[in-house]
Amino acid sequence: MSLLGSLALLGSAALGTGGTLPPSVVVLQYHFVATDTPASTSVTPAQFAAHLEAIEASGATVLPLGEALEALEAGRTLPETALAITFDDAYESIAEAAHPLLRTRGWPYTIFVNPEPIDGRHGGFLSWDQLQRLAAEGATIGNHGLRHDYMVRGESHGLPAPEAPAYATYLEAQVLKAQARINTELGAQPKLFAYPYGEFAPELQAWLKAQGYAAFGQHSGPLWAGSDAQALPRFPASGIYGALDSLRPKLTMKALAATIESPKSMILPKETNRPTLRFTLRFPNAHRGPVQCYLSGQGAIPTTREGSRVEASAPAPLPLGRSRFNCTAQGPGGRWHWLSQPLLRLP
Ligand SMILES: [Zn+2]
Repeated sequence: MSLLGSLALLGSAALGTGGTLPPSVVVLQYHFVATDTPASTSVTPAQFAAHLEAIEASGATVLPLGEALEALEAGRTLPETALAITFDDAYESIAEAAHPLLRTRGWPYTIFVNPEPIDGRHGGFLSWDQLQRLAAEGATIGNHGLRHDYMVRGESHGLPAPEAPAYATYLEAQVLKAQARINTELGAQPKLFAYPYGEFAPELQAWLKAQGYAAFGQHSGPLWAGSDAQALPRFPASGIYGALDSLRPKLTMKALAATIESPKSMILPKETNRPTLRFTLRFPNAHRGPVQCYLSGQGAIPTTREGSRVEASAPAPLPLGRSRFNCTAQGPGGRWHWLSQPLLRLP
C-alpha cells in the first residue's frame, strides 16, 4: 500500500516532460556523530557541520519526518527540495555533537530508539532525560524496536520466523511495548518505525500497516506519495556515504516513481542468488533517456527498458546478507531520479 491511498489523483498518463512531477522527500540516515566510533556508521562533527552547510546551500527545506509523510499522504504540495534528518540507535553523540548544530539552525530531526538498552542504562546511549530535552528542542522520537533484533531472520537468531504463529506475539512485544515506553517517557510520538539493520519481510510490513506505522529501511532513495509506506527508503549519510561528493547529489534527488513487480520481498528465495528487478515507470514520458541500474558489489548492470517497463538482472551471484539494486534516470531539467530495492540472502 502506498503512502497515498489512491494514486489516481496524480494523473500519470497526462504527465509529460513539461508536466509537474509529484513531490519527493529526501530522508538522511545517521548513527554516530563522533571521531572514535565505528567508521562505517559515523561522521565526524566537522563532517556533520559540512553536511548541514551543504543542505542549506542546496536550498532544501528541512521538515519533521512525520509532517513530510503527512503532506505526501494528503497530496499536499511540498517545497521543491524537501528533506528530513534521522538518527538510528540513540547514541550519546547526537546530544553532544549533532543537536547543538541542528538547534542553531532550528532544524527538526528524528531519533529512532531501542527502549531496552535505554531502560538498562547501557553505556553510550542517551537517557530518557536527555531524549526529553532533545524532544523539547525539536526532535521526534521514533520506534526502532524494543531491542535491536534481526527481526526477520527467525530461528537462526532465536526468534520466531515471520510465517510462524508466534510472530505476532513477538511483534507485540518488540513494537507495541517499545512504543508504550516511548510514549510514556516523551508523550505521544508519531507512529514511525525504522527496521533494525533495514531488514523486513511482507508479514512484518503487513502487521505494521495494520497497526498504522510508517516504516523505514536502509535502502537508498527519495520517497514520494507512491512509495510503499512500510518499505520507505533513506539515504545512508555515514561512512563512505558521508563524503560530500557522495552526499551532495542526493540532497536534490527525486524519486524514480515506479511500481516494483519483482522481487516481491527483500528476502530472496533460497535458490535465487541472481535476482531480477522488474518495475513499471509511473511517469515514463518524464524520462526520455535510459534507466541504468546498479547492484551492490557489481557496479552498473545490463538494464533494458521498453516504454514504461524496466528490467535488470544480477550478472553474478550475490553473497549472503544484504545487497540492493539502485536505478537512476534523468528527468525534466536534467534532475536525477532514483529507485532502490533492498535484497537479503539468508543461509
Ligand atoms: Zn539501528
